[in-house]
Amino acid sequence: MSAQKDFNRHTIAIVYDFDGTLSPQPMQEYTVLPKIGVPAKQFWQTVDREKEADQAEGMLVYMRHLLEEAERKRIHIGRKDFAEMARSIEYFAGVETWFQRLNSFVRKAGRGQVRLRHYLISAGLREILEGTSIRRHFEQIYASEYHYDHHGVATFPKVLITDTTKTQYLFRINKGRERQTESINEHMPEYQRPIPFSNIIYIGDGHTDVPSMTVTRQNGGNAIAVYKPDSQRALHVCRELLQARRADFIAPADYRHNGVLEKRTKLLLSAVMANIAYERELFRCRVENHIAEI
Ligand SMILES: [Mg+2]
Repeated sequence: MSAQKDFNRHTIAIVYDFDGTLSPQPMQEYTVLPKIGVPAKQFWQTVDREKEADQAEGMLVYMRHLLEEAERKRIHIGRKDFAEMARSIEYFAGVETWFQRLNSFVRKAGRGQVRLRHYLISAGLREILEGTSIRRHFEQIYASEYHYDHHGVATFPKVLITDTTKTQYLFRINKGRERQTESINEHMPEYQRPIPFSNIIYIGDGHTDVPSMTVTRQNGGNAIAVYKPDSQRALHVCRELLQARRADFIAPADYRHNGVLEKRTKLLLSAVMANIAYERELFRCRVENHIAEI
């Protein structure tokens, strides 16, 4: 392999969970549950009961229950229907302008030498997320997805993402192997990884984000836990994450300009940019002195 000539680890990734992080309620509650006429509380109780009784994977149970309910009510749900339903999704305050604000912050502070990308990793449904108004801000959306039969009807899970399998996608981002079918198991030296973990900031809202926060932080990355403003229970969960050092910072899920979350995120971004500047200079110094990367 020829020696690397230019420093290329100048991309920062902010990786988001969706439900409870960018949007207050699970996405199904704005979209598919009203469509099939099932009250959210009843739906999740049924899923939880069956999960417990059958010792089943909760995500698979909910994906099957959605299809069974739609079938029972004779409601057709195709890929497009999911995307159209996404218009009903609500976001926390400031989410819709958050991405541009951070992009311009990094563009200015990084003097054009740092790139910022946003990624979404969700156990929810990709079909719904693809229809959201904030879709265009994401480099990739990783989420559970249905297989559709020749009538265009969802029949079976095609991709399943759970709390723990979310971590696979952190490595996809880290290694630049972003397609679902690309192998991420071969060894890749640190210097070849396009987005080192130290350039990753993970933002999530609770216990389901613990595996992702832990993988990110233990590999030198950063994590922020957000909580629904005015929810004591959510605040308590975040304080536990902070105490256990699973998150660098916690903040209310209020994405508006000059809010606590924006300030803390910008602080982390500044720290990451300073580290990128250091790594770039280190790289140049080593190249000048004919020292190979290892
Ligand atoms: Mg969540």
